[in-house]
Amino acid sequence: TQYVYRFGGGVSDGGRGDRNLLGGKGANLAEMASIGLPVPPGFTISTEFCAVYYDEGRAFPKGLRDEVATGIAHIEGVTGKTFGDPADPLLVSVRSGARASMPGMMDTVLNLGLNDETVQGLAATSGDARFAWDSYRRFIQMYSDVVLELDHRGFEDALDIAKEDRGYFLDTDLTAEDLQALVAEYKGLVEAQWGKPFPQDVHDQLWGAVGAVFGSWQSERAKVYRRLNDIPASWGTAVNVQAMVFGNMGDTSATGVAFTRDPAKGDRAYYGEFLINAQGEDVVAGIRTPQYLTKASREAAGAKPASMEEAMPVVFTELAKVFDLLENHYRDMQDIEFTVQQGKLWMLQTRSGKRTAKAALKIAVDMAEEGLITREEAVARVDPAALDQLLHPTLDPAARRDVLTKGLPASPGAASGAAVFDSDTAEKRAAAGESVILIRVETSPEDIHGMHAARGILTARGGMTSHAAVVARGMGRPCVSGAGTISIDAKAGIMRVAGREVREGDIVTIDGSTGEVMMGAVPTVQPELAGDFGTLMVWADGVRRLKVRANAETPLDAKVAREFGAEGIGLCRTEHMFFDAARITAVRQMILAEDEAGRRVALEKLLPEQRADFIQLFEVMAGLPVTIRLLDPPLHEFLPHEEAEFAEVASAAGVDIDVLKRRAAELHEFNPMLGHRGCRLGVTYPEIYEMQARAIFEAAIAVAEKSGSAPIPEVMIPLVATRRELELMKAVVDKAAQAVFADKGATIEYLVGTMIELPRAALMAGEIAEVGAFFSFGTNDLTQTTLGVSRDDAARFLTTYVERGIYARDPFVSLDIEGVGQLIEMAAERGRATRPDIKLGICGEHGGDPASIAFCEKIGLDYVSASPYRVPIARLAAAQAAL
Ligand code: PEP
Ligand code: MG
Repeated sequence: TQYVYRFGGGVSDGGRGDRNLLGGKGANLAEMASIGLPVPPGFTISTEFCAVYYDEGRAFPKGLRDEVATGIAHIEGVTGKTFGDPADPLLVSVRSGARASMPGMMDTVLNLGLNDETVQGLAATSGDARFAWDSYRRFIQMYSDVVLELDHRGFEDALDIAKEDRGYFLDTDLTAEDLQALVAEYKGLVEAQWGKPFPQDVHDQLWGAVGAVFGSWQSERAKVYRRLNDIPASWGTAVNVQAMVFGNMGDTSATGVAFTRDPAKGDRAYYGEFLINAQGEDVVAGIRTPQYLTKASREAAGAKPASMEEAMPVVFTELAKVFDLLENHYRDMQDIEFTVQQGKLWMLQTRSGKRTAKAALKIAVDMAEEGLITREEAVARVDPAALDQLLHPTLDPAARRDVLTKGLPASPGAASGAAVFDSDTAEKRAAAGESVILIRVETSPEDIHGMHAARGILTARGGMTSHAAVVARGMGRPCVSGAGTISIDAKAGIMRVAGREVREGDIVTIDGSTGEVMMGAVPTVQPELAGDFGTLMVWADGVRRLKVRANAETPLDAKVAREFGAEGIGLCRTEHMFFDAARITAVRQMILAEDEAGRRVALEKLLPEQRADFIQLFEVMAGLPVTIRLLDPPLHEFLPHEEAEFAEVASAAGVDIDVLKRRAAELHEFNPMLGHRGCRLGVTYPEIYEMQARAIFEAAIAVAEKSGSAPIPEVMIPLVATRRELELMKAVVDKAAQAVFADKGATIEYLVGTMIELPRAALMAGEIAEVGAFFSFGTNDLTQTTLGVSRDDAARFLTTYVERGIYARDPFVSLDIEGVGQLIEMAAERGRATRPDIKLGICGEHGGDPASIAFCEKIGLDYVSASPYRVPIARLAAAQAAL
């Protein structure tokens, strides 16, 4: 096996396609060299050797030593200098370079090859003794830190003392003699700490540095970074050994970093900073304030020190040409490192630059319009998940934050407002024009009005699919859930966190994109949906096959969904209409009724309300499909839970308080999610579904008559496990339809279908499709029931599960494709075998998750349905899945 690949001086053993073998840095250095850019000569020891290094017990076999000797000879040949030559020494840098960039995680050693003899040669050939001694002291300091792993503070203190003693402010004030004295002091520090003198043999230095770079792959911080960024340990890092070039050889030398476009806003302008007479680490270290690259950016910032464009106009022009060339060559915005040595430009690195969501959009659209990339490539370039940043107000990044705690980022966006601890107060204060943040231990369906009234929601308990999270996402309200370190005393109106108190009315800010909870108001910035965003969405719609619908029940949410491009409603959860403050009393009467007759009296009161809801929804959706799910949650959710509420509810509902309590106790369940809910309600109380079906058909006919175009309602039965359940419920719906049609003397088209959200339903999908005209995969419940993990309680241990690699991601956020995915795929196949034109969609939270959407495309579902604010994300993800 070959482990060493050369570049520079007209040779390139590799290129941009060899990223896996040479790492990002090595592949791009070889590529830049091959297109004739000025790259200091060097070689890359491949990532493949990283595994060998660990297998060999961190040793270097003879074969590698021979290859490295050839690599060094290559550098010597190109530079005309010899490694270790006291008269004219070659110096090299040794840097890591993994496949995926791991900024700041891995090690680098510069100026390697200096010792007590070669420093004299460097002083003589450069004619600059100060530079030579400065390079040597930098080398000792870096080598001691990275390779010998000595405590770096001693070196920093010695440097500070040297400056103080002489009354200097800048490192550059130190003279050659000062630096020579500092080198002696550094060598003393090494010997004292390490027990041996600083290595003088340049080959020992080299192998020490190569070993340290390979060793840094298994450092703690690298391991943590890999875990957070899903980078496999097996990839390994490469090591790049390259001839040094010097940005610290006086005022015609400099070093800098640049982006070919603005990484924050995406504007087409060079962007970056540089330092005259400095080495790379000085720019990063922040000891001296770097200067702007261009005159325009210096002026825009109102800064004084000359920009590179002004201070070094000739090299700057050359550099600008390289920027354009690299951008054209890689067809993407580049992040570049360069050095100028005595007026000569050298390129040290190029890679695709990291950017904000806003910049990603602008750069993709601009590049397509410039003809640099195709529209499909532009669509493929933008990370759908990053759009989240753009669809909600976000915290002003420049603003100060007083962070109290962190919970789960349950629904994106940021909001500030007065802390309130119950939903009625939230509604009252909001009605009076105040911004409020609703803070609850956890929310229940009774909090819907408070959540609607609030700008944001914070809960102490609950995961990513808890009630608060799902409802908040649906409403587009920012939400932080499961902030376990807060304790809430709702009665007293106090939240305690981190030894501090927040009282009702105190202003707090939540960031649902990061999970942060802050004291006080933090200013926000508003999203922009037109412009580049709109353009990219149109391009995305041109390539996607999957339709995108929204989960919405209020006319307002439906309007938002349409503005974001929803092509129908995939899930209208009717229970959300039951919780409306105006009708909760009738709902409770229905639940408290002794018999069917009593229930029907209450349902008669609800009928006109439901009908009015559906009329509004059908009007907003104007002829688009609307899937309406009949009542799903266990009935006890509609009854009060707290002692104080019982009396109030009893008198409102006109029943005795003891009757109410008895009924609540009867309805109590140990496992309500597996209890009397879904179609089980319809089976036991068919009159509820009958009323809902009537309301749907009467509304559809009313809208058809008024607007001339009939909506096509898709009536959906929840939590079906068997064909017989669906049959019975379909009969109820069909009978209601016939009754309404007879009554109104008009008919409309409709479909009856089911959710597939239980494993048994997926298994029996072939049979169930004989009855149902469509399936909508309810992946929230399907995940809960397949994994046997409660969606409301999982947050407590799922984080650990993800950390331990048991699930790659939270399965309530990103579909467990391996497991739950099999059930979906199988149900889709079996359903189609029975009914080839069966409509298939997904309406669980996964309908807005890009990885899950890619799976839906792969198995050929017809649509995905996501909460309104995730509709654009779903449109883009669906387009990428189709590419
Ligand atoms: C589901 O279970 O995936 C679903 C969409 O229904 P809900 O979240 O209302 O239970
Ligand atoms: Mg469900």
